[in-house]
Amino acid sequence: MSTQTHSFQAEVAQLLHLVTHSLYSNSEIFLRELVSNASDACDKLRFEALNNASLYGEQPNLEVRIHFDKDAKTLTITDTGIGMSQQEAIDHLGTIAKSGTKAFMDQLSGDQKQDSQLIGQFGVGFYSGFIVADKIVVDSRRAGLAEGEAVRWSSGGTGDFEVQAITRAERGTSITLHLREEHSEFLNAWKLKQLIAKYSDHISLPILMEKEEWKDSEKEGEPGSMVKTGEWETVNKASALWTRAKKDVSDEQYKEFYKAISNDYEDPLAWSHNRVEGNSEYTQLLYIPAKAPFDLYQRDKHAGVKLYVKRVFIMDDADSLLPQYLRFVKGVIDSADLPLNVSRELLQESRDVRLIREGSVKRVLSMLEDLARHDKHEASANAEADADAETVTDVVSDEDKAKEGKYTQFYAQFGAVLKEGLGEDMGNKERIAKLLRFASTSSDTPSVSLADYKARMKEGQEAIYYITADTLAAAKNSPQLEVFKKKGIEVLLMTDRIDEWALNYLSHFDETPLQSVAKGAVDLSTLQDEEEKKAAEEAAEAFKPMLEKLKEALKDKAEDVRATSRLVDSPACLVVASDDMSMQLMRMLKQAGQPVPDSKPVLEVNPEHPLVKKLDTSANFDDLAHILFDQALLAEGGLLEDPVAYVKRVNALLA
Ligand code: ADP
Repeated sequence: MSTQTHSFQAEVAQLLHLVTHSLYSNSEIFLRELVSNASDACDKLRFEALNNASLYGEQPNLEVRIHFDKDAKTLTITDTGIGMSQQEAIDHLGTIAKSGTKAFMDQLSGDQKQDSQLIGQFGVGFYSGFIVADKIVVDSRRAGLAEGEAVRWSSGGTGDFEVQAITRAERGTSITLHLREEHSEFLNAWKLKQLIAKYSDHISLPILMEKEEWKDSEKEGEPGSMVKTGEWETVNKASALWTRAKKDVSDEQYKEFYKAISNDYEDPLAWSHNRVEGNSEYTQLLYIPAKAPFDLYQRDKHAGVKLYVKRVFIMDDADSLLPQYLRFVKGVIDSADLPLNVSRELLQESRDVRLIREGSVKRVLSMLEDLARHDKHEASANAEADADAETVTDVVSDEDKAKEGKYTQFYAQFGAVLKEGLGEDMGNKERIAKLLRFASTSSDTPSVSLADYKARMKEGQEAIYYITADTLAAAKNSPQLEVFKKKGIEVLLMTDRIDEWALNYLSHFDETPLQSVAKGAVDLSTLQDEEEKKAAEEAAEAFKPMLEKLKEALKDKAEDVRATSRLVDSPACLVVASDDMSMQLMRMLKQAGQPVPDSKPVLEVNPEHPLVKKLDTSANFDDLAHILFDQALLAEGGLLEDPVAYVKRVNALLA
């Protein structure tokens, strides 16, 4: 029979090189990956067979067998799953079909430690076999194809692989690893069982290994050894983890299951396992990861929740099970009500799916609320103890203690995604708003909740004030904050790109309006005393003619010019009308090549500033007016339309 040689797709060759070099210290994961592929192949067969039972042929069992040969130094993993045709073997084992591969490769830094973390997230799958093997042979027969239509794929894991037609009696796939000398530790039943217990116990199919028994040596004085009996035994629990009662699953098992379904190396931050009964019956096991995946912001990225129906795997990435803003959640949902042949289209319309979705959103939000509540446990527990000296007892349980700091960690990774929920999930807006955290003029780290802010509001303060900017430094130093600083009023500093958009959907929090300090006129009059008010009014009156002159000079640049009490140290600043797009958002859209509305900002000037006071008597009023405007634009992070003209004007002044 003829043998064809093919080259690996360039990305595969690159990945193979990385896998074998950077995952060396974590070689045992190959078993998890190959068993997981075998299990997926069985799931696929079960799914296809729903409409075509003849695919089972004479082999009704779905199972995985692990066999090793000490003399040949091979380890073979055999499944009775869907198998591969010749073309499928070439396509699936020679290329990477996953979207985002390119983006993934671009992220690799060449630093092995860092890259191995990334590879973990990407999921190396089949290629992990080459960590321990210098040759892999895959024999496979696609369900439904004849004996003579089977395929043998083999490769040394470098530049190319070979494919030839073979005859194979059974449906499914056998993967034989020719282990490198230094990996002969895997030719040991005890070791393999231990790894299966650690990584693959949750697999719902039976994983079988040949039974061994102790045999004394026939020769006197020589040690005995374990020999195979020819009988096979199931070495895993073979019941899907989420179908077990909570008390029968250890934390370790929950964590390993997470790693198996998420491709994440790290432990999850939290999880929630529930059986829901009522209008719709389903089991949910949902995880919050500790780290954001590299493709969190990729548009074609789906949710990480797997859908099962009555323990039969239906589909991965079922994005109708959770809204986009919770796309970081991983897990499994197993419905008792959906039909087994449910399609993606059907999912979108199903009432059961709607109920599952609502229930799952609630569950995730409560998990986050729980983490948020315990994030500050110590601080609040101490505060209570201080308030009442008699109750100085340790009220923090170990479990609660373990949750400390987790919300901060979560928020740093996924806070920006959570904010999308303000616009996407109106029904849960209030709950989401409570989960948000921001930096503010009294905290450089995003740790201030809207409730914290409200509790600190000054007497007479009527709004929650915020400013959006590109960076924390730009936000903090913005002239618009001056009067707030002077009066000791806290302002939230927002620097996520999404803030501007998300805040559009949050006009109020707990009945208090949110107001941008860079939009509209700021009315702090309720915070002024009588004297201040009077002084401000008089100054405004006296200043009117000057404002008219400025307006005339700047009529091409500014919508309006008015006096303000919001500035202390700066002569002027720019603001936009309350319902106009902020200057920062306009800049962002412009950068992205999007059309922006043609609106001009308002220039607000500080009548108390020495520079402004001098304007009146100045000979070059026009130049000064323009400088005032341009400086306000610069201070706000904007770009000048005509920088040369600005420099000329300033130089003329300096000279
Ligand atoms: P992934 O499993 O994440 O898609 P892998 O590199 O592990 O990536 O596998 C690539 C593809 O090869 C799989 O998607 C599947 O189509 C095929 N494959 C791998 N192992 C098996 C198997 N045991 N039986 C059938 N197909 C398999």
